[in-house]
Amino acid sequence: MARVFVITGPSGVGKGTLIRALRERIPELELSVSATTRAPRPGETDGVDYHFLSGAQFDARIAAGDFVEHASYAGHRYGTLRSELQRRLDAGAPVVLEIEVQGARQIREAMPDAVQVFIEPPSEAALRTRLIGRGTDGPEQIEARLQTARAELAAGHEFAHRVCNDRLDEAADALEAIVRAELAAA
Ligand code: ADP
Ligand code: 5GP
Repeated sequence: MARVFVITGPSGVGKGTLIRALRERIPELELSVSATTRAPRPGETDGVDYHFLSGAQFDARIAAGDFVEHASYAGHRYGTLRSELQRRLDAGAPVVLEIEVQGARQIREAMPDAVQVFIEPPSEAALRTRLIGRGTDGPEQIEARLQTARAELAAGHEFAHRVCNDRLDEAADALEAIVRAELAAA
C-alpha cells in the first residue's frame, strides 16, 4: 500500500532541505505540490513549487471540497489539494507532504495511517539564523514565523517521530531510516 509521509515543524527548520536530501536517497518518493495565497518568491514556479492562487480562488477550492487540509500561516493560506495527493497514491507512489502543524493535525484526523515526522531545530537561535540566512523573507515575515514557531515547538510531543536537524547529514540519515522502515512495513 502506498504511504503518506507528513514532514512538519517550524519554518526555517530545514524541512525543504531535508526532503530534497530524502528524495535523492529514495527517488520513488513524490512530493505533493501545495496551494498557497502567498506571492511566489524569486525563482519559484507556479505548479512546481506551489499552485499560487488568489484569495478568491483559494476560497472557491475550499467551497468545492478540494483540500485534504488547509491552514492560515503567517498571514497567508496554504493547503494540500486532494487531487495532488490522490493522483500520486493512485499511481502507487509514496507521497511526502511538507506542511505546518495545523495541517499535520488535520491529516492525523483524516488519514490516521499517515506517518508524521516533526523536525526540531537545535535551538530557537538557530531557527532565527536559518530564516535570516535563507534570505527569502523580510524582517516582519521572519518575526511572524518565529512567533508561530514557539507554539509549533510546544506541539512537537504530539508527533510519533521527532528528528533534530542539527547536522544536516545526521538528520537526513534519521529521516531516511524512519521512511525506509515504514515503507518496508507497508
Ligand atoms: P523550511 O523548509 O523548514 O522552511 P529550509 O529547508 O528552507 O526550511 O531551510 C532554511 C534554511 O536553513 C536554508 O537556508 C537551509 O539551507 C538552512 N539549513 C537547513 N538545514 C540546515 C542545517 N542542518 N544546518 C544549517 N542550516 C541548515
Ligand atoms: P513557505 O511560505 O515558507 O513556503 O511556507 C510556510 C509554511 O507553510 C511552512 O511551514 C510550510 O511547511 C507550510 N506549508 C506549505 N504547504 C502547506 C500545505 O499545503 N498545508 C499546510 N497546512 N501548510 C503548508
